Amino acid sequence: MSVYLGIDIGGTAVKIGLVDENNRILCSETRSVNFDGYQTPIMTTVIALAREMLAQAPEQPVGIGVSATGQIDVHTGTVIGVGANFGDWLGCGIRTLLEDAFSLPVTVINDANAAALGEQTCGSARGKSNVLVVTIGTGVGGGIIENGRLIQGVRGIGGEIGHYSIRFDGEPCPCGSRGCFERYASTGALVRTFTGDPELLDVLGVHPEDVNGKVIFEHLDHPAVFAAVDRWMDHIAYGITGLVHIFNPEIVLIGGGISREEDRFIRPLREKILSRVMPRFGEVLEVEVAGLSNNAGLLGACAYLRSVYPDL
Ligand SMILES: [Zn+2]
Repeated sequence: MSVYLGIDIGGTAVKIGLVDENNRILCSETRSVNFDGYQTPIMTTVIALAREMLAQAPEQPVGIGVSATGQIDVHTGTVIGVGANFGDWLGCGIRTLLEDAFSLPVTVINDANAAALGEQTCGSARGKSNVLVVTIGTGVGGGIIENGRLIQGVRGIGGEIGHYSIRFDGEPCPCGSRGCFERYASTGALVRTFTGDPELLDVLGVHPEDVNGKVIFEHLDHPAVFAAVDRWMDHIAYGITGLVHIFNPEIVLIGGGISREEDRFIRPLREKILSRVMPRFGEVLEVEVAGLSNNAGLLGACAYLRSVYPDL
């Protein structure tokens, strides 16, 4: 049975694991990539950790699948765009560096797109062909699978639903546009609502730097907190409703740390979305939690490798 090396590179950490043909993770390890403020190039850390893992592996991989943060040109395996630059990430030739180091076939894909493929291959969207994955975190990430295939666009950087504008006169976004979905629908946006409002902050009873989704949800019994969270969920629901009308998915998966709140987040969000989509869209639509959490990138990266190199 073949095994694959999966690598999931984020802005703060890298996760590396050996994955078999049945999508089982045989071993995995996580390491910081900014332990010295990015003095050490990210790929130096990645290659060192991969070498350590392969030196102890019972079986050597036949290929390397990478999931990486940023806009990734899938044809060259290079980082061609970043939200906020860090280290030497912009322009980093991920694929070439790994091919040179390990002499194996390498594919590189954006992490949100990898997560969507992971969910479709072995997560909550297994067996489904029309899938929308929305990851709610500091920003909003997404992946769209249509008729069984990931929508990538001409350079492989499609599916950036966080930067689809829901308000032309809305908040400026670091991407250069205004009113982007993630300016309203991310956990980061919810946190900004609370840190910018002295009365809400007073209800939480914490310093602005300690406000996070978990703290906010702990105070949901307070009417003002509930109202602010409900408005935030309205933004998420309206954005997803628009996407449902465009793509007609059979399932929408919600990922990110806040998606663990089944009763207080997923259930009301599901109700909001289903009450707003046009009836024929809603009849076939499920709204569920993304199931793979931290392993979605790793597993999706290996699924993508196998779709590009089916003979491995
Ligand atoms: Zn934007």
